[in-house]
Amino acid sequence: ADEIQKLRDRKRAKEHEIKDSTLPEIAIVGRSNVGKSTMLNTLTESPNTARVSSKPGLTRQLNFYRCGDKFVVVDMPGYGFAFAKEEDKTAWKELIEDYLGTRKSLKRIYVMIDARHGLKVADKEFLTMMGATSSKKFQVVLTKCDLVSPPDLARTYMVVQEELKKSFRNAMTDRILMVSSYTGAGMNTLRKDMLFECGQ
Ligand code: GDP
Repeated sequence: ADEIQKLRDRKRAKEHEIKDSTLPEIAIVGRSNVGKSTMLNTLTESPNTARVSSKPGLTRQLNFYRCGDKFVVVDMPGYGFAFAKEEDKTAWKELIEDYLGTRKSLKRIYVMIDARHGLKVADKEFLTMMGATSSKKFQVVLTKCDLVSPPDLARTYMVVQEELKKSFRNAMTDRILMVSSYTGAGMNTLRKDMLFECGQ
């Protein structure tokens, strides 16, 4: 409960402070519109603070949120590059090389997937690109679970799990997290999972 209170106390840390930070980091990625900003707001129970930048250059878009003195959540830009511009892919490749693949304090990457759709082409493209450069493990989180019936959710869970096992060696496939920012379902588990990954 103490940790959760600390999460609520999170402050957006300035980038220069973060550069030398020894706090463990958690990166959050996902397709645009997957519900990432809403999830970040719900996670920290502080509305209207997650989306801090409008549309700057892709590589400048890392936003760092200090969660008490336990860890830092790093909000990555939304991707969506099936059939998209080549320069977006190049920028993302750099972001993976410069941050996701190499950051020592990065403990885990959380990949948000819409529970209504499962892995889409853009997700697979992104995960393939990430896997080519980074050996960091990632945890999948199904979002917007309130929009899916329990049987459909169970089906999507299994399909996604199989696809991850088959094609993405860096995926953590024992368990896929399921959340709804609207109902709050799964959010405590997600918080605890993050704390655990950060050795707390
Ligand atoms: P982002 O682009 O990944 O940051 O996505 P947003 O957080 O902006 O959410 C995209 C849309 O999905 C918005 O209209 C949100 O209100 C909606 N949304 C986000 N989370 C949930 C959720 O848990 N349940 C439902 N039903 N809608 C959600």
